[in-house]
Amino acid sequence: MNFVKLSRFCCMLIVMATFSPRATEQPVEKIAQTPQCARGLNWIEQNTSWVTDQQIRLTEIPAPELDEGRRAEYLKRLFEAMSLKVRIDETGDVVAERPGAEPHKVVLIAAHLDTVFPPGTPVQVKRNGGRLEAPGISDNGSGLAALVGVARAFAESQVHTAKTVVFAGDVGEEGEGNLRGIRALVEHYGSRLSAVIAVDGPSIEHITVQGIASRRFEIVINGPGGHSWSDFGRPNPITALARGIVQFSSVRVSESPRSSFNFGLIEGGTSVNSIPARAVVKVDLRSESESELARLESSLREAMKNAVRQETEAAEVPVEELQLSFRSLGARPAGKLPENSALLETVREVDAYLGNHARPERSSTDANIPLSLGIPAISLGGGGTGGGAHTLSEWYDPAGRALGLKRLYLIAVTLAGTRP
Ligand SMILES: [Zn+2]
Repeated sequence: MNFVKLSRFCCMLIVMATFSPRATEQPVEKIAQTPQCARGLNWIEQNTSWVTDQQIRLTEIPAPELDEGRRAEYLKRLFEAMSLKVRIDETGDVVAERPGAEPHKVVLIAAHLDTVFPPGTPVQVKRNGGRLEAPGISDNGSGLAALVGVARAFAESQVHTAKTVVFAGDVGEEGEGNLRGIRALVEHYGSRLSAVIAVDGPSIEHITVQGIASRRFEIVINGPGGHSWSDFGRPNPITALARGIVQFSSVRVSESPRSSFNFGLIEGGTSVNSIPARAVVKVDLRSESESELARLESSLREAMKNAVRQETEAAEVPVEELQLSFRSLGARPAGKLPENSALLETVREVDAYLGNHARPERSSTDANIPLSLGIPAISLGGGGTGGGAHTLSEWYDPAGRALGLKRLYLIAVTLAGTRP
């Protein structure tokens, strides 16, 4: 090994030692039995109904895309009541810090504030037997409730940590938010981050260790428009769009690496007897592989270009051509937690201690951003069960919630390290 190689290797070791996601080699069992940690676990056991009440309050404050402010204010007050240092950053994230003995090392626990539901969607929570029903109750009402529950357990247990623990409610995870909230948090804490946990949904049977890459587009086709009878024969943007959607839908989508596409929203036209002047569709492309994603994108562009040409050629009335445009609504980078990551090991150890069985999986979450930058990150559920995410019939059942909360709390304490 020459000097340059050696010094590079040493630097790597120093970086790995400084930013190891786990602060202590003490076994989880020992950590859980310390008086401080036991107090936190006990608080969780006794107070799951308080956590559920907060979930209902948070869910009933609408948080559509780009409009998470009211929900953020409520979360800020909750954190303030726990004597945390709280701020709302320029992006709109609620950031609560719990300083550790070594403030240059940070464990970040984040849950997204936003929902996929547009303004005006009724968000009152209905109880149906043991279930809670409301749009957003699970995604991400359950994640936000778990964030608040774990922060409160830290406060009640008065646990002293080595690393600083940051609790954050972040904006812009869903739809066209393009992960702007978590991007801002990761940029702010930068190299101080030793681990990031994104709490999303309820499931504790999965550990998201790989971030799926995605690209989202708005495709617009503009045309001359006209009267349905007197201008019949002019090219029709809606017909062109439909042609493009059908053509792209027959493109082969790779199973491994797994990929997907969805035409999720479509609009255009003004009346039944007008040739539309405009048609719009929003598309979501995803893949485990960036190169497969690039292939899908170019197939989509090709299909839409062909469709517009065919529709223009088919027109019987020679008028100006249809105009096609693509606008990016966001791109999420891919990333993967290494198999031998200490973060994953910590989660597995906590699961073994609590008797929870979870398997690794891939998803597109806030964890994509830190993972794409090589920062250890994972996405976990907050406990309980839920279903119907992103639909109006979304539900959540808090039965078993304590296990999810204890799991997150123990993971966070182990990562941050306890101090006597
Ligand atoms: Zn979510």
